[in-house]
Amino acid sequence: MRPQLNDYKHLASGKVRDIYEVDDATLLMVVSDRISAYDFALEPAIPDKGRVLTATSMFFFDAIDFPNHLAGPIDDPRIPEEVLGRAIIVHKLEMLPFECVARGFLTGSGLKEYQASGTVCGIALPDGLGEASRLPEPIFTPATKAEQGDHDENVSFEVVVDKLGAERAQQLKDATLQIYSAAAHLAEDKGIILADTKFEFGLDADGTLVLADEVLTPDSSRYWPADGFEEGRVQPSFDKQYVRNWLTSDASGWDPASETQPPHLPADVVAATRARYIEAYERLSGASFSNWPGA
Ligand code: ATP
Ligand code: MG
Repeated sequence: MRPQLNDYKHLASGKVRDIYEVDDATLLMVVSDRISAYDFALEPAIPDKGRVLTATSMFFFDAIDFPNHLAGPIDDPRIPEEVLGRAIIVHKLEMLPFECVARGFLTGSGLKEYQASGTVCGIALPDGLGEASRLPEPIFTPATKAEQGDHDENVSFEVVVDKLGAERAQQLKDATLQIYSAAAHLAEDKGIILADTKFEFGLDADGTLVLADEVLTPDSSRYWPADGFEEGRVQPSFDKQYVRNWLTSDASGWDPASETQPPHLPADVVAATRARYIEAYERLSGASFSNWPGA
């Protein structure tokens, strides 16, 4: 008999995930179908999103050669039936207070900073780059994690050094770029560009650096179809950029600068977003989502 969700102590809920305590050293991380954009939780949820994100993360934890926080398989007997397929059992880590972002292409907040100053997180870039330009080489662009409701803030590498020391900071940068490159090559073979991605790392009891959180999902990454890629314009992407694009289109009538709650997503945007998440998973992994547990 599997336990039930309310057998576990609820520790925290983010915009997308709910965290429960299994024991002193172990957590249950449950991925909901909620979707967020521009740091707002949107309505309604995207059906099956939690399972697709979990499937995508699990695929990459397996594919990437780096210590990760998994403490059991996807059908671990400690996972309640009601969240099967969208929950994982992980080692509780001491999380490092940075979002470790790698960028191979210029877009989003990176492009904004570049246009204002010619730099991203203090890294000087060549002139003449624009939307979706490939960078000369991938760069490490850390951000500090915002309190709930606030926006994450890009910071320079020196800020990471000041906080964590030179050695740990360099280790974070190397790990971030190494994992990004491995994943970007894997995606490229499937006809998908990994434009950028965000990792979170923690330390285990021995002080070993461990890859945590979700990895290489469309929520933490910008994936673009390689087919039809064109520098200079916003790419039609596999990630929630689709939702972001709708929100900032005239059709939604919403202004991100207004800091007001965005409007409800229409049914066709919900269905198209669900299909995009599933397509990204299936193309990246080569597996069929219909076989994923917990339908
Ligand atoms: P939001 O994403 O809504 O801005 P959030 O990042 O705090 O907020 P979630 O992403 O939903 O919320 O929840 C995941 C939380 O769990 C994050 O705070 C993340 O740093 C933390 N976390 C991830 N993996 C581990 C781990 N192995 N041990 C401890 N904490 C972890
Ligand atoms: Mg998060």
